[in-house]
Amino acid sequence: MKKIRIGYGYDVHRLAEGLPLWLGGVRIPYEKGEVAHSDGDVLIHAVCDALLGALALGDIGTHFPDTSDEFKGIDSKELLRRTIFLVEEQGYCVGNIDVMLCLENPKIKPFVASMREILSSILKVSEEDVSIKATTREKLGFVGRGDGVEAFASALLFHKDIFSLVL
Ligand code: MG
Repeated sequence: MKKIRIGYGYDVHRLAEGLPLWLGGVRIPYEKGEVAHSDGDVLIHAVCDALLGALALGDIGTHFPDTSDEFKGIDSKELLRRTIFLVEEQGYCVGNIDVMLCLENPKIKPFVASMREILSSILKVSEEDVSIKATTREKLGFVGRGDGVEAFASALLFHKDIFSLVL
């Protein structure tokens, strides 16, 4: 059995006027928000896909289909909790995650500390194991025009047995 696994995730959502903008579990004040079946939190969706990918468990759409009423308008933090449950069921825990958010506006720096606090608590790691970075697309493409927001994430998982080997 492989005891260290790495995963990668990506998500994108369209932005439209008058909808709430959720990123990393935080409601960001802004004139636009994500068009989505759930609350549209791209950052959390990318993290879920990285965690599922690390264990080759498929993708977020397989586990939480956007055709299901159960997930309509769902808080993405709940999707992340359920994803962590799947990870733990396989005997794994999170080592660390690294996220890159791509959006033109607004600036998210003031909210990063809250995002790290929220995610680290759900992932059961310390805040230093949750990295959240952001960049613009330099006004290029759909993100550059402010029509969408993207997130990329990687995650490292350890099998619980690895700790007995270290000792
Ligand atoms: Mg999504």
